[in-house]
Amino acid sequence: MQAPADIHVDLRGVSLVYGEDDDQTLALDRLTLQVERGEFVAVVGPSGCGKSTLMKLVTGLLAPDGGSVFIDGKRVDGPVRNVGMAFQNSTLMPWRTTLDNVMLPFEIVKPHKHKLRTLRAQYEERARKTLEEVGLIEFAHKYPWELSGGMQQRANVCRALVHEPRLLMLDEPFGALDAFTREELWVMTQRLWLEHRFSAMLVTHDLREAVFLADRVIVLSRRPGRVVLDRRIDIPRPRSVAGTYDPVFGEIVQEIHSKIVEART
Ligand code: ADP
Repeated sequence: MQAPADIHVDLRGVSLVYGEDDDQTLALDRLTLQVERGEFVAVVGPSGCGKSTLMKLVTGLLAPDGGSVFIDGKRVDGPVRNVGMAFQNSTLMPWRTTLDNVMLPFEIVKPHKHKLRTLRAQYEERARKTLEEVGLIEFAHKYPWELSGGMQQRANVCRALVHEPRLLMLDEPFGALDAFTREELWVMTQRLWLEHRFSAMLVTHDLREAVFLADRVIVLSRRPGRVVLDRRIDIPRPRSVAGTYDPVFGEIVQEIHSKIVEART
């Protein structure tokens, strides 16, 4: 008998309405989606279909108007702990060095913030180790403006992962970067995932990025967003950037692309 799936994130019939009275926008309509523990799920769809809204519901920054969100079987009723987040515009603080930026979760996330004073050396060691994993250790004492865009996003991902969250939320994290830098960061993200096996949700417009990184690619319809395709990606890992130009890879991208075009109308 097959073991029951170990569900990490569970969205059940979730709806979300922005605005009030006669100025309402239904962003998501009874959306149901599950992410298994350790799974990497990418969410794609037409602009404005509710992808960022979905991310805010999972992290508890927004409360659903209908349905429920569960993490580890527990209903989400406020901002979720033990989650790492990285967004398109790196939100590094310009007055802090890379290392001090990466230390930030230890200052604000429970239970670390209560232990920081006594365990600072250990936490700093963890921050350095994570910087090493993303190839930034030599830049630990530089400020964000001294780093390239790609390095800033590396530091951003590093900060999202330093406290070893079990869930990583990436909302267009590499969107502002040039194509080559973006591909480097796909490889880095894949390496980090293979090593740490956190669960991940990635919102992206880049279908090659989605197929490169994900176990499943979810296509949402235009607003109000519903799941119109749940495509499993069985390409073995580690996946290579060169492999994204293989016909098999291209066919999957094409299939997802057609579904999005269909979902737009
Ligand atoms: P996506 O990330 O897929 O581009 P969003 O989740 O940002 O889409 O938004 C979904 C829809 O909800 C969009 O049509 C957007 O205009 C609308 N929306 C998002 N945030 C707000 C808000 N604060 N107030 C009103 N409408 C909003």
